[in-house]
Amino acid sequence: MYSHLSEQYKIKFGNLEDIDINGYQEIIGSKEIEKLKKIAGKLEGKRWANVNSTFEGGGVAEMLKSIVPIARGLGIDCTWYCIEATDDFYIVTKKFHNIIQGLDQHFTLEELLDLYVNTNRRNFENISINADYSVVHDPQPCASVVHGNYTGKKVWRCHIDTSEANDLIWNFLVPYINNYDGVIFSHPEFVKTGVRKPVFQIPPSIDPLTVKNRQKTREESLSILYELLNEHNIDPERPIVLAVSRYDIHKNQETIVKVFKELKKDRDISKLKPILIIVGNSATDDPEGMEMFKKIYGQVEDDKDIFTLLNIPNNDENIGALMSIADVFIHISTKEGFGLVVTEAMWQGTPVIGSNVGGIRLQIINDKTGYLVEPFEIDKMKTYIKHILLNPEEKERLGYSAIEHVRNNFLVTNLVRRHLVLMSFYLGIDYPCFEL
Ligand code: UDP
Repeated sequence: MYSHLSEQYKIKFGNLEDIDINGYQEIIGSKEIEKLKKIAGKLEGKRWANVNSTFEGGGVAEMLKSIVPIARGLGIDCTWYCIEATDDFYIVTKKFHNIIQGLDQHFTLEELLDLYVNTNRRNFENISINADYSVVHDPQPCASVVHGNYTGKKVWRCHIDTSEANDLIWNFLVPYINNYDGVIFSHPEFVKTGVRKPVFQIPPSIDPLTVKNRQKTREESLSILYELLNEHNIDPERPIVLAVSRYDIHKNQETIVKVFKELKKDRDISKLKPILIIVGNSATDDPEGMEMFKKIYGQVEDDKDIFTLLNIPNNDENIGALMSIADVFIHISTKEGFGLVVTEAMWQGTPVIGSNVGGIRLQIINDKTGYLVEPFEIDKMKTYIKHILLNPEEKERLGYSAIEHVRNNFLVTNLVRRHLVLMSFYLGIDYPCFEL
């Protein structure tokens, strides 16, 4: 069910158990469950393939770990393939990612042709993706559309905001994109010109039942975190400002450290003795993570109130528990396709201060489900953090609305339903759209 795209399909990734959709009933209600079953009923046995570039780390892998088993539980033959590549390939595709998000980086013709195109060719030649509906995620495997053999309909699923992509890289990708049958973006505003295929909107989502996202009491969270907090000598009774993401230039962790150092200078706040915890990991398809971690670590210097953690043990349990006990979550990326960490923190009922960019602004309704700031508005960030820390009842007010906003829009059940509708559309199968 989960394989690397080796020619022989030999390398297997561990199988995940199929997930029974009925398990979500308490969270989304029986009506939603019935809708899903109805749509899936007409697609029983149909094949839905997903192709991406990593099984671990980052939002796409995180979502596929739930989407695939849920779809399988609904009777769809859903699979997940991952391309195999050398580190050099990921260096080039990371550059793609950065350039698409507006950074001024350069690449050579050799990088494009020898690495990007050839890696796609090598992974996909001589094999067929035998599926009725294939979803190819992000730029890394985008070129597979011409080098591979997709037997059914294929859509490119872009998880990043391409609206300001550099023309050169965009013009290189567009001919590939236009070879798909359709394109999915998280938001219509993220689509740069030149796409001639139908564009659909499907926002990303979180799975509320995973160990990370399951809602927990403070006591449960503290017990989960016991070892981690002890190891780093973190006192959970102090107010916690939390940030979680890959160590990456666009995640703007440098500004988070600056904001916190400024915040501590405030007399009312210094009495509360808050701490900042920055947690990050490095995805296998992200070669720049370690460098950025070292940079942030250096910036913190010997500030004993700031904890920078990398690749924490029991990642999922600990991340979810930290999000649940945090007093404020801060995520101020300069560019952000969606920002699953924002959804995750909101689902734990923790107020989020997020930057007014990309998918973050789909999630945060200012002063209702969190607070929106511009990525470098240090003073405003300070004011909001101070306001939340000095008024603990705000956690309840913002947290309640945040949970409901996620429930109604950003749960994985919603995402699977949208894909099944799209699949029905492409396969010419009627679906009860009036009930959607
Ligand atoms: N994540 C994690 N451990 C970390 C850092 C991040 O498990 O140390 C997870 C995080 O909880 C989220 C995903 O990685 O599920 C990151 O997704 P997001 O959309 O926020 O960012 P991306 O990495 O895709 O740009």
